[in-house]
Amino acid sequence: MIEKAQLNWLTDGTPESLAYGDIYFSRENGLEESSYVFLQGNLLPDAWLDSGQFCIAELGFGTGLNFLNTARLWSETGKGILHYVAFEKHPLSAESIAKALSNWPELSGLCENLTKNLPDLLPGFHRVVFKNLRIFLTLCYGDANQLLPKLNGKVDAWYLDGFAPAKNPELWQESLFKNIALKSKPGATAATFSAARVVKDGLSQAGFEISLKKGFGKKRDMLFAKFPGSKTKESKIQNVAIIGAGLSGCLSALALSYRGIKSTLFESENAAAGGASGAAAGVIMPYLSSTPSFRSEFFLNSFGFAWRQVFGENFYSRCGVIRLAIGQTQEKTFSNFEKLYLPTDFAQIFEADSITELLGLVVKKQGFYFPTAGWINPRDYCRFAIEASGCDFKVNTEVSRLERLEGSVVLFDQGNNLLGEFSKVIFANAYSAKKFFPDLPIQFNRGQIVYTKTTQKLSLLKHVFCHEGYVMPELSGLHLIGASYDHKSHSLQEDRNQSQELLNKLYRNLPELSELELSGYRVGFRTSTSDRMPIVCEIDSDVFVNVAQGSRGLVSCGISGEILAGLVNNEPLAVSNDVLSSVDLARLTKSF
Ligand code: SAM
Repeated sequence: MIEKAQLNWLTDGTPESLAYGDIYFSRENGLEESSYVFLQGNLLPDAWLDSGQFCIAELGFGTGLNFLNTARLWSETGKGILHYVAFEKHPLSAESIAKALSNWPELSGLCENLTKNLPDLLPGFHRVVFKNLRIFLTLCYGDANQLLPKLNGKVDAWYLDGFAPAKNPELWQESLFKNIALKSKPGATAATFSAARVVKDGLSQAGFEISLKKGFGKKRDMLFAKFPGSKTKESKIQNVAIIGAGLSGCLSALALSYRGIKSTLFESENAAAGGASGAAAGVIMPYLSSTPSFRSEFFLNSFGFAWRQVFGENFYSRCGVIRLAIGQTQEKTFSNFEKLYLPTDFAQIFEADSITELLGLVVKKQGFYFPTAGWINPRDYCRFAIEASGCDFKVNTEVSRLERLEGSVVLFDQGNNLLGEFSKVIFANAYSAKKFFPDLPIQFNRGQIVYTKTTQKLSLLKHVFCHEGYVMPELSGLHLIGASYDHKSHSLQEDRNQSQELLNKLYRNLPELSELELSGYRVGFRTSTSDRMPIVCEIDSDVFVNVAQGSRGLVSCGISGEILAGLVNNEPLAVSNDVLSSVDLARLTKSF
């Protein structure tokens, strides 16, 4: 459970933590202190001038002052990409952040960008991309001592800002310093306002060379530390091929473009989103589990990544989603709900009468309400990603063969024509990935949806309503009703029985409805695994897969693309090691 920061505001507007009895930044001038202790303390901007990618890690994100101050300096001097990984046990609300930083109008634009995109109060890693600045913020909510070992990546500069050791001894443990050393690149630096013995000894025993500097303002000392070794130059990824222009492929191209990496996107059909990504709308909502696990963390935190990616776009509606607690898993989640400690602006449980009141339609069962969930048009999401990524999009091109050269991969089409030479290849072609990797443990399943004309009753529906299936609010006079699951049929034709069954389920759960008139259908094929998690990993050297998003792709494809781009470009990843192993192929080929 993540507990929010409890604050006391001092007369000059400086926030103080009630739990620790310490202030977040200097009362003399927090911004100047931040520049002096952490930025200049880590030799910035000089330290990042020659880097294609630079990673800062901060213990204690607090008000985000250090982050925004760094972002400002980066926007003026940074050239490649900046990763900023921050740990925070007690996050501040967006309102408190804005209030704490209101003294510095020079940060207001960046601050607004941060507060608008602040992750939900959920444990684990949250990735926020500031694409115009090429900054990747990974906010890790929880205890730094527990989360730091789960970071998949290495750090160039450390901001050690977790309150004074005397006020917060639990943070400054011997194991913390060991983990800092383990996650440091050769030549990494660290700076902290504290020159306390425990910090000095901890860092030096972990292998850092320590020196003291004059402290900020009235403070006598501050500490600078350097890890042995010198930086190695990272290699630049030139061009990446992506096979398959469904959501997985398009969002992989988008994630690569955030890093300035050009991709070529190959699609065997004549347009994007031909397969499972082609319906007029799909649900974007958090997928809850009855007990917390790395799998549930993946889906809960992916939801945040997805909405941040589409926020404000006209193919996304944040209309709210009701999900009835039907079936064993949902019922168990409903009864365990209190123990999941989910924030109320994220998920709530509702009895049948409250759902009825919210929907304006009679409902007989209890369920969940997700106020920030809604729907996305996946076709438009794909088009948006293709356009925003600037990828080279090649339709009617089936990649049929792959050949390896020293340090590159060459692709050919069916007629054995050369398609190009690439430094990395990503297979995002769903079930067709089996043609290249016959042992890939994925299944396909056929999904049918139907469209019905709106009626007086149905037009009352302003939320997405998930029951044994789902129904969308009205879109151009129609409601989309989904979806069947069928592991056997390959047919693209309508299965009338399945259409009727979709209607019957709807009538069962919204008993005021009857005799709806169908006006169309669509068939798509999803790919999934036995545990319903996708496969996102390097399958062979320089060859990656991003497949099996099942029916949850609108939630999981964004973060999967982001993970993949991180793997391809050898960056700190958007998810913890544990979450990463829940999407790695190895989980399906060996037992945990
Ligand atoms: N860097 C911050 C800024 O720019 O506003 C100020 C950080 S404040 C001095 C210290 C922060 O460390 C607090 O937000 C506190 O909640 C956090 N913290 C304390 N103990 C922690 C722990 N064990 N793990 C993660 N964060 C912790």
